[in-house]
Amino acid sequence: MALRFFNTMSRRKEDFVPLEPGHVRMYTCGPTVYNFAHIGNFRTYMFEDLLRRYLKYKGYKVTHVMNLTDIDDKTIKGSREKNISLNEYTATYKKAFFDDLDTLNMERAEHYPEATTHIPEMVALVKKLIDKGFAYEQGGSYYFKIAAFPQYGRLSHMKLDELKTGARVASDEYEKEQVSDFALWKGWDEADGDVYWDTEIGRGRPGWHIECSAMSMKYLGETFDIHTGGVDNMFPHHENEIAQSEAANGKTFVNYWMHSEHLQVEGRRMAKSLGNFYTLRDIMAKGYNPLAVRYLLISTHYRMQMNFSFDGLEASRNGLERYLDFLSNLEDVASTVDGGEADGFIAGAKTGFENALDDDLNISGALGVVFDFIRDINRLKAENRLSKAEAGRVLDIMNRFDSVLGFRKKQAGLDADIEAKIAARIAARKAKNFAESDRIRDELLAMGIILEDTPTGTKWKRKL
Ligand code: AMP
Ligand code: ZN
Repeated sequence: MALRFFNTMSRRKEDFVPLEPGHVRMYTCGPTVYNFAHIGNFRTYMFEDLLRRYLKYKGYKVTHVMNLTDIDDKTIKGSREKNISLNEYTATYKKAFFDDLDTLNMERAEHYPEATTHIPEMVALVKKLIDKGFAYEQGGSYYFKIAAFPQYGRLSHMKLDELKTGARVASDEYEKEQVSDFALWKGWDEADGDVYWDTEIGRGRPGWHIECSAMSMKYLGETFDIHTGGVDNMFPHHENEIAQSEAANGKTFVNYWMHSEHLQVEGRRMAKSLGNFYTLRDIMAKGYNPLAVRYLLISTHYRMQMNFSFDGLEASRNGLERYLDFLSNLEDVASTVDGGEADGFIAGAKTGFENALDDDLNISGALGVVFDFIRDINRLKAENRLSKAEAGRVLDIMNRFDSVLGFRKKQAGLDADIEAKIAARIAARKAKNFAESDRIRDELLAMGIILEDTPTGTKWKRKL
């Protein structure tokens, strides 16, 4: 089956064909670093992580760019309220963002361009739009003239009849009812304090939308394959990116637009402005393992709304435990006699997993296949019909699946430390120093490591 994605532009599933065979170029709108990201934001980033991991699984080279919005209305407001420089203010949240990515076992993109270090590219783009008659100046700011771009509104299917020509909106975020000429460049005013750049188009700072047009095209070219974001980005942000980029270059900006639905809390979007949000840190402080959060966020299809609840998180924790225990228990299989059935299950699981994800990343289908496979292999194992060699092949395919799911997190340095402590405990027991052996067990337990003494040796796992 061919890989297919639902394209927001056409509102249907389309076969995915990248511009350059074997190489996918994708852009994902990154965080506005004015606060800690909440798990709603991470639902969108998790969908993008699944997308990039599956493209790699399919053998594509992926060039993935995620920007960091470190200059916009919200970051300026935040830094001024705290009375610190913009850079100092955003540095805290940039670091927290990357820490959280690692904690959630998300892969790094190839590039994380920051808006503040790409001002010349943005100014060049605004100048191009001025030269071509798509932009005009008003009170030191520059606006995009949507009347000059009749295709405006195609992505979000807007009707432009009611459009009041000449109406302008200066803020970065606004509602559909306010559709009008939007700011490309905002001339300096007092509220900006010392945040400004002196450029050929005057003193000021970029609008939010021009940032993503300039940075995506710099790293991916004037036309690239995939652009993603949460559904709230469709209007005005992505609509404005298309207008700016296509007006400037006269070319299609992006071939596939993909948008993920929101994480909700009691029927409303999880959002900082509503105060109904949890950060990853909030949830970990309640004792949950971040990989259970990963499992939860990834496991609902990206185009379906998803409600956050602690019951759901608990169910994810249980699913994760079953998955990790399965991997760990495969290592105990010692039989040298092939049962002869495992390879059939392996082939079936591989086909099922790929068919599901090829169909617009049907993750629930893919997870269903994985858990059926786990059940089937567990049965073979319980009935002594699985050899060590067959278990090895099961492990190989599970590792392939896990390159997409990312549920098993390798922590090389930490793991080696744990192994060393376990070796010390075994030595203590051999020497009949049971006090020392118990002390090490307790020390490991305090680190969240559970030991299990089995006939084949001591095994360990992380408490979930
Ligand atoms: P922001 O930092 O507000 O620019 O948002 C970063 C990303 O998170 C954007 O792609 C948003 O669409 C996305 N996002 C914001 N809130 C949610 C939510 N409740 N569920 C899923 N994605 C969200
Ligand atoms: Zn963006």
